[in-house]
This record gives sequence, C-alpha cells and structure tokens, in this order.
Amino acid sequence: MEENLHRVSRSPDVGTHNQNDSVAEDNRRRRHYNHHTHGVQAKDSADWNAVDDLDFEILNFHSSPSNADDDMDFEIVNFHSSPSSPSPVVTNDEPLRLPIPMSGLGVPNEQLFVTQRSLPELARGPPYFYYENVVLAPWETISRHLYDVAPEFVDSSFICAAARERGYVHNLPISNRYLIQPPPKHTIQEVLPLTKNWWPTWDTRTKLNCIFTVNASSQLTNRIRSALEASRGEPPEEIKRYVIEQCEKWNLIWVGQNKAVPLEVNEIETLMGFPIYHTRGGGGISRAERLKSLSNSFQVDTLAYHLSVLKPLFPDGINVLSLFTGIGGGELALHRLQIPMKTVVSVEFSQANKYILRDFWERTNQKGVLIEFEDVQDLTKDIIVELMKQFGGFDIVIGGSPCNNHAGGNRVTPNCLEGEQSLMFYEYCRVLNVVRQTAKEMRRS
Ligand code: SAH
Repeated sequence: MEENLHRVSRSPDVGTHNQNDSVAEDNRRRRHYNHHTHGVQAKDSADWNAVDDLDFEILNFHSSPSNADDDMDFEIVNFHSSPSSPSPVVTNDEPLRLPIPMSGLGVPNEQLFVTQRSLPELARGPPYFYYENVVLAPWETISRHLYDVAPEFVDSSFICAAARERGYVHNLPISNRYLIQPPPKHTIQEVLPLTKNWWPTWDTRTKLNCIFTVNASSQLTNRIRSALEASRGEPPEEIKRYVIEQCEKWNLIWVGQNKAVPLEVNEIETLMGFPIYHTRGGGGISRAERLKSLSNSFQVDTLAYHLSVLKPLFPDGINVLSLFTGIGGGELALHRLQIPMKTVVSVEFSQANKYILRDFWERTNQKGVLIEFEDVQDLTKDIIVELMKQFGGFDIVIGGSPCNNHAGGNRVTPNCLEGEQSLMFYEYCRVLNVVRQTAKEMRRS
C-alpha cells in the first residue's frame, strides 16, 4: 500500500464527526488492526477507469507520535484534471477521504468493529434509508443532503471474492449484523474451482477486481497465450508482469494451459451474490445488457450483511420503496435474509431490468405486492403519500442512484452531481424527505 502513496500529510477532518468517542476509539483500533492483517486492496472498476483519466494525488494520514490518540489512518485522494483532459474542471467539493482499510463500520470475522454510532438527530429512526454509490462520488455533498450521516465505505472483497469499493449512507442499526447463509466463498479459486487446474503459481491473485462492463478483447487473450507459449516453461519476469497486469485490469481467469479469459455472465452473477441466470430474466436480454446491469448492481452479500439487522425488526414483513432498482439486488438480499416483502414499490427505468425483477419475483414465488414505476420523477409527493396511506408507510427506502457521471469512462468530473444521470441522487433525497416527513405526520395523526 505504502508504495502507492505520493505524499504524506495530515487532514483536519477525518469524517467521523457523527461518531461518539468510544466509537472513534474502536475505529482507530480497528483500522490499525486491519492495516496489519489485510493486503493491498483491489481496485474498483470505476477507479480503474479513473486512473486512466486523472492524475491522482494520494495523501496518507499517519499517526503522529506526539498526539497519537487524536489520529486516524485515512487516505485522502485529490483529483487534478490531467493535461490531456479537454476542459479542466474546478471542483467545489471535497477531496475524497477514504478509510484504510475499507471495512466500514465492521465486516464479518473482524475482531474489532463498531457496535454503535450516534446518528444526527434528523436521521434517526424509521423509515430507514440506505443509499449506495461509488467511492469516487462526492460524499460530502451526498452526506450533507442525507441528514449529515457519514458514509460507510466497504470493499466487498472483505466479504466475497470480488472487490467492490462502495460508499453507503444509511441510518440502519449496525449491531448484530450477520452474513446470509451459505456464506459467500472468499477466493476466486473457491468460487471457480475449475480454474485451479490452470492457475499459474506466479499469478498470486485470490480476489477479482470489481466487475465492469467492458470485457477484454480476444486479441488480448490471444496475445497473452502467444507470449506464454513462446516462453516455454516458466515465463520471464517481464512477461509475468505484463500478464498479471492485464489479468488484474480485465479480471481474467485461467481456463486452460496459458488461457486467460474474461468472466462469463453466470460467473459474474455468482461473484455478485446472485443466483446464476438471474439476469437472463426469462429471455430476450442481450449479454451486453446483462453485463451492464451487473456492473451497476449491489454486491448482494455485502448489502445483505448491512440489511440483516432488519430481520428481527420486521418479523411480519417489510414495505420497501426501491429506487433505481436495477436488477433487484436489494430485493434479492431481503429474500435471502427471509424477510418477507409485503410491498415493493420499484422505480426502474430500464425495460431489461424490469423484466429481470419480475422474473425474480415470479420465480421466487413472492407473496407480496410488486408495484412498478418507470421514472423516479413521476413519483410526485401526492403519489408517494397515497401509496404510504395504502400500505401503512414504507419501512425502508433503498437505492443506489445512477453514477454514470462520476464513475468509469463516462465520468465528467470526479465529484459532480450535475450530469443528467447523477442528478438522480437529488431525486432520491426528494423522495426520501417526502417519505420521512409523511411517516412523521402519519405517526402524529
Ligand atoms: N442498485 C441497483 C442498480 C442501480 S444502477 C442494482 O442492484 O441493480 C441505477 C439504475 O437506475 C439503473 O438500473 C437505471 O436504469 C436506473 N435509472 C436511471 N434513471 C432513472 C430514472 N429517472 N428513474 C428510474 N430509474 C432510473
């Protein structure tokens, strides 16, 4: 990790302003603990693309011997438009503060984790909310609009075999979280056992990088094969380095002698915590659409770990407002947690994703009601209030708004919420405010 850091500095704000002292202390110990027990984190797809687009300045916040008690380890990333960028964008938001390691408020099998936090008054209590976005999103702005709740940054590779670095702003309780059973497999070789026969000893990867839409070309896989075949026996260091670099960048796996290939859709589904063929949606959905939807999706085991706290709270079932539903990662997590979904109001634009959710709903024989809206902007205050009266309110508003404008190749600026897609974040906030306000009024009357 250290070799990636360009500069060492201090930060006045380490982003734990909502946590009480004992929690902060726990956090400190946890970070130090993890710093020594986990290796270098894998990069997320959005980050990979960003690395190409932007110069990174990474500042590491280190303990100072003089006042070790106040210090926490944080990595701060500042962005600069690269000289080749057509129009340098002056950002008015924060430098991104990323904790190291990215284990949020605790991940399974950790000895030290946070068991309580104090949320800002306005954020407390139901209806619950859970918002997800990529780590490069403008989190200070996002927090500010979500009642000042600090994001919890988690890399899914703590939980499963694929990295997925995401931020989550939510007001869920955090004690007694648990993993859904059977727990996800932790290494590539466990998830894809057939690869073991062909995995070269010098490729030491055990985790995949984040799943993303673009696949390696067949030219690349051919180039790798030719380079390795030409080496006969143990390849020279230079070739190994090149191959590993490409394997990491493109998430290639070994399926034959010298044959490194991209993941199949069903393998990605498994890694993301979905049953295989989930995104087939009953047919008619192209491979490209399936890949795109999967690359935008929640990692289900990670999400379910966070949502598991709902299980004892809603033994009779839950009413869900699912914004930007995608392929239904939220719904699948609740289903796998065996929390009955009494009502799901799903808001999703894409026809393919709607088919996938409906197919899931039918296949899993859901007893609850599924109501669909296409565009979040159609969800007016009147409609929300009407729905809430009909079902007695929503228990959770869950969603990750589209991040095209601050993720991957489409990224306009590292921290703008101004692109058409990213503006949807403000729709999430608008809807959530109506839901929480209406719930308050309903409780009063
Ligand atoms: N968390 C989801 C995926 C979120 S990606 C999952 O687990 O799969 C964002 C989703 O928002 C995409 O599926 C996109 O089709 C949808 N979307 C974009 N604009 C929208 C709008 N105006 N109204 C509703 N959905 C929208």
